[in-house]
Amino acid sequence: MTMCIICTEEYKTMKNLEELDCEDCTNLTEIPLIPGLKKLYCFGCTSLTKIPVIPGLKELNCSGCTSLTEIPIIPVLKKLNCTGCTSLTKIPVIPELSKLYCFGCPSLTEIPLIPGLTELYCADCTSLTKVPNIEGLEDLNCSHCTRLTEIPLIPGLQYLDCSECPSLREIPVIPGLKTLYCTGCASLTGIPLIPGLTKLNCAYCTSLTRIPLIPGLKKLYCFGCTSLTGISHIPGLELLNCSNCTSLTEIPLISGLRHLTLENCPMLKV
Ligand SMILES: [Zn+2]
Repeated sequence: MTMCIICTEEYKTMKNLEELDCEDCTNLTEIPLIPGLKKLYCFGCTSLTKIPVIPGLKELNCSGCTSLTEIPIIPVLKKLNCTGCTSLTKIPVIPELSKLYCFGCPSLTEIPLIPGLTELYCADCTSLTKVPNIEGLEDLNCSHCTRLTEIPLIPGLQYLDCSECPSLREIPVIPGLKTLYCTGCASLTGIPLIPGLTKLNCAYCTSLTRIPLIPGLKKLYCFGCTSLTGISHIPGLELLNCSNCTSLTEIPLISGLRHLTLENCPMLKV
């Protein structure tokens, strides 16, 4: 069995230690307090139960630490990756945090309102029923959050992936949104009319009946939308993939269209 530099106490001989790697050590139960530490990579330490408050820590990757039940409030932490921390029940309000990656944390029931957050990737958090409305949030991936029923109107959001959220009924009109992935949202009955949206992937949204006229849209992937009967005439559209839209009766004639895929659309009148 390999031991990490904490278990061997090798770290004690290192002066001015700013970055510490002790990943995949299954013996490690606690991280010692190393005052000058700025980056800590302790992913895959499956016995780890405690991380101390390290005052200057800016980056923490503790993904796959399956025994970890809590994350401390680290005052200057900017980036936190706690993906796959299956025992983690909550995340505290970390004042300086801007990037939070917490994919696959099934015990997590809530994500608090962390004011400085710009990126939030909380995909596959199956106990999560809502996501916080953080004004400055730009990127949100909450795909595969099977209990999520709504998305708040987050004013600064530019990128949203809410694919495979079967309980989601609608997506609000988020003015700054440029990219929207909402594939496999079986309860979704409409697509919001967001003028600046350039890329939309709503494949396999089986309750969708129509794609509205979204003026800025360039790429539209709507394959497998089996209830879809019509697509609006979107003048700037460059790519359209509407294969397996078995109810689709017509598609608009768009002069600028460069890529068109329409296999298995039996109702289409050509
Ligand atoms: Zn170790």
